[in-house]
Amino acid sequence: MVNWDPIEKIVAGVSSGELKAMDLVERALKAIDSGREFNAIIAKIDDRARRRANNIDKEVSKGKYAGRLAGVPFIAKDNFLVIGAETTAGSNILRGFNAPYQATAIEKLESEGAICVAKANLDAFAHGSSTENSDFMITKNPHDKTKVPGGSSGGSAASVVLGMAPFALGTDTGGSIRLPASFTGSVGYKPTYGLVSRSGVVAMASSTDVIGPITNSVEDAALVLECMAGRDNLDGTTIDRSKKQYTDLSIDLNGKKVGVVSEYMGTGVEPDVKNAILSSIEKLKKTGVKFQEVSLPSLPLALASYYIIMPAEVSSNLSRYDGQRYGFSHPKAKNLEDSYNWSRSEGFGREAKRRIMIGTYVLSSGYYDDYYKKAQKVRTKLINEFSEAFNSFDFLIGPTAPTTAFPIGHKAADPLEMYLADIMTVAANLTGIPSISIPLPVSGLPIGMQIMTKQKNDVQLLAFASKVEKEL
Ligand code: GLN
Repeated sequence: MVNWDPIEKIVAGVSSGELKAMDLVERALKAIDSGREFNAIIAKIDDRARRRANNIDKEVSKGKYAGRLAGVPFIAKDNFLVIGAETTAGSNILRGFNAPYQATAIEKLESEGAICVAKANLDAFAHGSSTENSDFMITKNPHDKTKVPGGSSGGSAASVVLGMAPFALGTDTGGSIRLPASFTGSVGYKPTYGLVSRSGVVAMASSTDVIGPITNSVEDAALVLECMAGRDNLDGTTIDRSKKQYTDLSIDLNGKKVGVVSEYMGTGVEPDVKNAILSSIEKLKKTGVKFQEVSLPSLPLALASYYIIMPAEVSSNLSRYDGQRYGFSHPKAKNLEDSYNWSRSEGFGREAKRRIMIGTYVLSSGYYDDYYKKAQKVRTKLINEFSEAFNSFDFLIGPTAPTTAFPIGHKAADPLEMYLADIMTVAANLTGIPSISIPLPVSGLPIGMQIMTKQKNDVQLLAFASKVEKEL
């Protein structure tokens, strides 16, 4: 595993000419090659990355400013449109699709001098919690090759832990940044819904999809967010960025009120996970943070609500893959009807098909009221309960996942078992609040602590998480 310096230090080195962007890119590409057995990467973007590195080094040598992320290599989950490699979203149906433009998040990072060096593996269309649903390969956990890295951004998280780049981008629709962060021992940040533009990112469930960084530290996550956040004309759901810098990590822990979510600490949580959280709480009490148990009664319904709302949106978003416009088109089809049918039948994997069918079902007349509408009512209840909790607490905490990384193949045959891995992460997506997973100091497989706060309170959340990270 290659260890990278904090991003700010790398940038200082490149900006002063002490480090060469080209050397950093070569180092990243080399680490990608030597970590191939982990199946974290779908494609490298070497030519374009080298050209960009060369340009950055030239600018710096002319004394020009090269940006807040000058020369920093990064890896994008393969559901981001990036020029220089195919965008497959881990699905056969998108094989051969070359993006005609780049995602806003990628454009913003590049305008600050960052360099995308590779595309990371994911569960096809980001459907999953283990990266076993990729149509191409199964990513392995860097800490134990027999275990999953979490999902769906498992390739992104594994790549950071394996030292392939100082940071990677993921998407989080129901936990896909935080769960892999928890399973691999990295930091995973899901910002407030709308804070980062979704333009140019393959849509899963548009009302909960969020983009965020996976990094080695909270400080790195804050810097990456700082460079991506804000309104974008290409995504009408984006919101204004905070006036304060996300990199302003100053905060006084003393007196901060933290609710320990009791629904996340009950039975079903592995004892090691629970103990890691409890001993962290004990340590943090010494800094003056005040902890109190809090119950959000509708939380046990969050998973069921998510697994109705999400497939409803998935079934709509996946309708555009019809064999005519993107990627795979069935070569034997002689008319439009066959082309639709055969391209979709062969192009989509089992999980995508399952979600299309569930989504279509819950939206159909006769079932809409029974399922979709009820799920939306639960969503509203959750929003209300969380906002009430945030009247009394600055932050809410709990584990990111009920278990540590599970063995490859363990849950793959049983979708309901797999869905349970998301039980602690989906509520933040349904309510649009920011949430971060930070690794706890443990001796065995990594365990993540999840910290949540109210919408648009990202600056405070990052500051708090950064302090907590240092105290533990
Ligand atoms: N594991 C969840 C799912 O399968 C979340 C996926 C995600 O956040 N993209 O839907």
